[in-house]
Amino acid sequence: ASPDDTRAGASAAVLVMVDDAAEGGPVVETPFRRADVDAPQLDVRDLSATRGDGIFETLGVHRGRPQAIEEHLQRFARSAALLDLPAPKLDVWRDAIHAAIAAHDSSADGFVKFVMTRGVEGAGVPVGWVYLADAADFTVPREQGVAVVTLDRGYRHDVARTSPWLLQGAKSLSYAVNKSVLREAARRGAADVIFTSIDGFVLEGPSSTVLLRFGDRFVSPPSDDGILAGTTLASAIEMLAALGHETHREPVRVEQLASADDIWLLSSTRSAVAVAELDGVPRAFDAELTTRLQTHLISRDH
Ligand code: PLP
Repeated sequence: ASPDDTRAGASAAVLVMVDDAAEGGPVVETPFRRADVDAPQLDVRDLSATRGDGIFETLGVHRGRPQAIEEHLQRFARSAALLDLPAPKLDVWRDAIHAAIAAHDSSADGFVKFVMTRGVEGAGVPVGWVYLADAADFTVPREQGVAVVTLDRGYRHDVARTSPWLLQGAKSLSYAVNKSVLREAARRGAADVIFTSIDGFVLEGPSSTVLLRFGDRFVSPPSDDGILAGTTLASAIEMLAALGHETHREPVRVEQLASADDIWLLSSTRSAVAVAELDGVPRAFDAELTTRLQTHLISRDH
């Protein structure tokens, strides 16, 4: 099974096309509209299809409520700015997300993926949509953890500062590398990946943020180090701090992975998944703390 977040073809699905996606666009009658998820919607000349040029977000839906919607909207706007896309109209996107959830006739937990592309080549008008579907079943990785390999990303940890045009830290649609590393992980007998920098630092997973525990200290790499600012990590840090734990955003050397008491991969869809094996070496993890993290993250209602 894919360790990944969102799988196409999930049972119930809703599509909302967002026609008033960004500032400076043409005047439209309705900002967004329900559309047939089984009918073609995208122009083959759309730059998302031909170049992976656009941005996206994936958020969890629990009991009909979108989780951390404001954090996801803010990150969407940051990604747009990093890609020099027109600013997304966040009020429209928020309403479109709520409309998609309201139209969803399933009580199962789900995810919302929202996408804004650079549009059809030459048109200069972003194309946007909101897609909602039932979540995959993550019971097994949540309970048993996952086997992970470290893979070199080929950049220094400070690449976001030295070479912002490489778009590290933006949630862009160019995720072919984030998928290819999962196939490399599978070849090595693992299900997920922790990217490392060429200068020896821990970065992130291809669809997750890394959180480590050293005794009572909880540590995660800083988000200005060319990694995505995780919304799930932010919620986990809030919870841990409220419980009186020390939390730190600081660079983590690859060698420190071996001495961590726990390592988790955090993401909107899977919540917290413990690393049960790293580069072929089995690791114990705190199952009780993992469950507490998961329960907190899954039932977040903001
Ligand atoms: N890092 C990358 C590269 C991601 O793609 C994701 C989510 O898909 C994350 C981190 C985790 O972010 P969040 O917790 O907001 O889902």
